[in-house]
Amino acid sequence: MTTKANILLIYTGGTIGMIKNFETGALKAFNFDELLQNIPEIKLLENNIDTVSFERPIDSSNMKPEFWLQIARIVERNYEEYDGFVVLHGSDTMSYSASALSFMFENLTKPIIFTGSQLPIGDLRTDAKENLITSIQIAGLQRHGTPVINEVCLYFEYKLYRANRTTKVNAEHFEAFDSPNYPPLVESGVHLSVNHEALWKPNRRRQMKLHTGINDQIALVKIFPGINQSLMEHILSYEGLKGVILETYGSGNAPTEDWFINLLKQTINKGIYIVNVTQCIGGSINMGQYETSSQLKKIGVVSGRDLTTEAAVAKLMYLLAQDLSPKVFKTIFETSLRGEML
Ligand code: ASP
Repeated sequence: MTTKANILLIYTGGTIGMIKNFETGALKAFNFDELLQNIPEIKLLENNIDTVSFERPIDSSNMKPEFWLQIARIVERNYEEYDGFVVLHGSDTMSYSASALSFMFENLTKPIIFTGSQLPIGDLRTDAKENLITSIQIAGLQRHGTPVINEVCLYFEYKLYRANRTTKVNAEHFEAFDSPNYPPLVESGVHLSVNHEALWKPNRRRQMKLHTGINDQIALVKIFPGINQSLMEHILSYEGLKGVILETYGSGNAPTEDWFINLLKQTINKGIYIVNVTQCIGGSINMGQYETSSQLKKIGVVSGRDLTTEAAVAKLMYLLAQDLSPKVFKTIFETSLRGEML
């Protein structure tokens, strides 16, 4: 006998639930109940679905860590009662939020699936219905009474991805996301094809733990040909700065000019972490492969390996709140915690 899975649908905002302001033509978030009325199909699903909404739904460009915590608290409060969670979220910052939640939840043994859409649910050509309905179905997948998915994921346009491997790659196509360094976990065709090999394998004896600490005193710096000393000095002298994500070229390469290396070295000596991630869409940091990255390795830059920038931001904010010694911080950052890196 199969039992119906209990799914909690959490609405935070995003295009999926927006309507057009007829005066300005701009899209803005609207009421969640109206949103549900646009998807009568939801009642045909086998799962029991309850819903909860942000009091004021937001465009995800207004997302911030306090809202990550709000989503996390909703999941935590309802963790025992539900078999899976589906978070409706704007696509613009979905990879950041979903990555953040993947670090905040340790020993997750249930799915938290983020989804949204490129067109509002009320639009005739909307992609919202498929995204929402399949996300709910995947969140409800069970095997021998336990959830098949046990991690934070992102579902969009027929593919379920590990959330902390995703990045938004297209503002126009329905296929808005990609997971360049990790295969999809589920592909939705006539059947749902689950890539069991790729799934996170939880230890069910361990208790789920929510880490609520997030330190957002960080900077994200993308280097470019011609980046100059005073700009870098300004950024790195920001008071309170605790960590920097440096988006470098290729496999982690950067200018070798003395001012650049010395500035990074002084910053690291002040106790500020510098994490190297690539500007490339796929592939990994490999400091030491070229002369243009050997110095970075030598001065103690942390390798972000094959992390997406979104996951690097989330991991940095999460680990900065843990109060680790510099050596431990570097070791832990360079270790995969939730399947986010090689
Ligand atoms: N601006 C919207 C948001 O991120 C875009 C979307 O939902 O796709 O909230």
